[in-house]
Amino acid sequence: SPEPEAAESDVFLEIRDVCKRFGDFSALADISLTIERGSFVCFLGPSGCGKTTLLRSIAGLERQSSGRIVQDGRDISNLPPSQRDFGIVFQSYSLFPNLTVNANVGYGLVNQGLPKAEIATRVQELLELVHLPTSGRKYPAALSGGEQQRVALARALAMQPGLLLLDEPLSALDAKVRVDLRHEMKDLQRRLGVTTVMVTHDQEEALALADIVVVMSKGKIEQVGTPMEVYSRPQSAFVADFVGHMNLLRGRIGKDGSVRIGEQALSLDTAQVPDRTGEVLVSFRPEDVVFRGVEETAENRFLGYVESIDFLGSFSRARVRVDGFEGEAFDADLSANILRDFGISEGSTLPFSLPRDRLCVYPGDERTAGG
Ligand code: ATP
Repeated sequence: SPEPEAAESDVFLEIRDVCKRFGDFSALADISLTIERGSFVCFLGPSGCGKTTLLRSIAGLERQSSGRIVQDGRDISNLPPSQRDFGIVFQSYSLFPNLTVNANVGYGLVNQGLPKAEIATRVQELLELVHLPTSGRKYPAALSGGEQQRVALARALAMQPGLLLLDEPLSALDAKVRVDLRHEMKDLQRRLGVTTVMVTHDQEEALALADIVVVMSKGKIEQVGTPMEVYSRPQSAFVADFVGHMNLLRGRIGKDGSVRIGEQALSLDTAQVPDRTGEVLVSFRPEDVVFRGVEETAENRFLGYVESIDFLGSFSRARVRVDGFEGEAFDADLSANILRDFGISEGSTLPFSLPRDRLCVYPGDERTAGG
């Protein structure tokens, strides 16, 4: 009898062992990745990590040196961009300046030879979708940056592509517009259900938008996961350092297998400890440092000296030093409550604890995002 259908995810895009070399330089080193139908995926990484090259390879704007790209069951590795099924939005407004918004959005539809009336209806629908219902007769120069990107989005969606590719579409916009448009893009993507791949170097943007974040560094994938997974369980010191604000302190694994910072052994979930001795990096988030109700017997309890406090609006961030931490200070977040109730001020010394499930340990020689 036939196998029962596996409850497998519905793969839409498959990247198989893709390499891209520019001369001697390896921009993509053996990238393999599957992307589910309807998902919003962000390629996240520092400048030069290869995220744009990977996006351009998917579009066919760059030809991979080896490997395959399969979209919706079809091997598109060797197809020119015109024969692939995607819409794309670039960082800089790539609208035709001499065409009206209507003509920009309808450009592909005109090329397809659709009847005029049908094009007009479709263009109007698209403009409503991106909240610009009355801007059709304007020229791009008369629009704000955010509005131009909305038009670019409408144009990218006009042909109802299977795949939407976004190359840093929000990077050139003001902070406020960027966040507004981010919400709209996410909402639009959900409603249309179009599989979307976005390139960004902005980790906040990736965490806010993506179903799946692909963290890249030096032409390789460091981690693939939900925003929550990538944030709370970074698989490498690089990801820990690059995504969100993270403290990374130097520690050691002794012969007895215990991880120490300075003289003090840490309580850890054993699964987290690398299987080796020597130097390690111990990481924890500023918001995971506990100052409230820290009893004598609390695990991973230390005495901290508050060097400085930065007021950051909704919270404050303290710089804390511990005797014996080899001269390293770390950051701890404090809510207004904690500042008031616990009398935390610059120059105070007080106990804090580091909950074991919030600590991660990496080999000491692992590369971090800082260098
Ligand atoms: P950024 O955010 O700065 O664009 P990125 O992660 O998108 O960074 P890519 O643009 O993919 O990085 O580039 C990856 C590496 O490949 C970079 O070191 C870049 O200099 C190199 N590279 C990209 N395109 C070419 C090219 N046409 N010729 C030579 N090297 C290139």
